[in-house]
Amino acid sequence: MKIITIPCLQDNFAYLLICTKTQQAAVVDPSEATPVISEIERQGVKLTTILNTHHHWDHVDGNQELNAKYADLFIYGHESDRGRIPGQTEFLKCGDEVNFGKQRGTFLHNPGHTSGAVTYVFGKTAFTGDTLFAAGCGRLFEGTPAQMHDSLNVQISGLADDTELYFGHEYTEANLRFALSVESRNAEIQHKLEAVSALCSSGKFSTPTTLAEERLTNPFMRCTSAEILACVKSKEPDHNLEEEEVFRTLRELKNNF
Ligand code: ZN
Ligand code: FE
Repeated sequence: MKIITIPCLQDNFAYLLICTKTQQAAVVDPSEATPVISEIERQGVKLTTILNTHHHWDHVDGNQELNAKYADLFIYGHESDRGRIPGQTEFLKCGDEVNFGKQRGTFLHNPGHTSGAVTYVFGKTAFTGDTLFAAGCGRLFEGTPAQMHDSLNVQISGLADDTELYFGHEYTEANLRFALSVESRNAEIQHKLEAVSALCSSGKFSTPTTLAEERLTNPFMRCTSAEILACVKSKEPDHNLEEEEVFRTLRELKNNF
């Protein structure tokens, strides 16, 4: 499988996945159709499938135009997003497969950012939408801190360490600045911030990251780090330092960063 990152809108990423055995393709989160169509034509592939990670407009707005142009697309989303994802044809429930061309994938249900958020998994490649960002996570619009904590630290965290994680927005630099604000002595974060700043100022993207890197640099996966616990305690002296409560506090600090 070949993966092409397609920048959309201000800071969104769509991804074109090409089955190199069949030249059939799937697109993850087409927020707009035009740049996706250009890439499909450049690659000379046949689009058969849309994979939506969740129902927000900046992840699904290209669905109808793509479906009108290419016809009869399989459009995947979580079963609970029925009525919220334009043109949805596949309603994912626990244990379902996700297929296009000769590629066979699975999904993780990751409530938190939205109730029907999913991560698509093809071998050691995963598409996390707005659940996990490099060094961050999505805002909690429809879920609780406990749900998002579980989505990141149990479900996504259950993938192999060398899994490549492709995320929904280029927020990495700002996320790393927040990460440093709660864990200033973390050298991995310092190094990654330097690398990502250089990358982004030369017009490149910070996607994908890896699960191993996130374990070292993502504060939302580091709720037991001694420095983060000390930081939380300094802001809320009565804090019980229970892991999900630390997660909740970090998310609130990020909202106000
Ligand atoms: Zn979203
Ligand atoms: Fe988004």
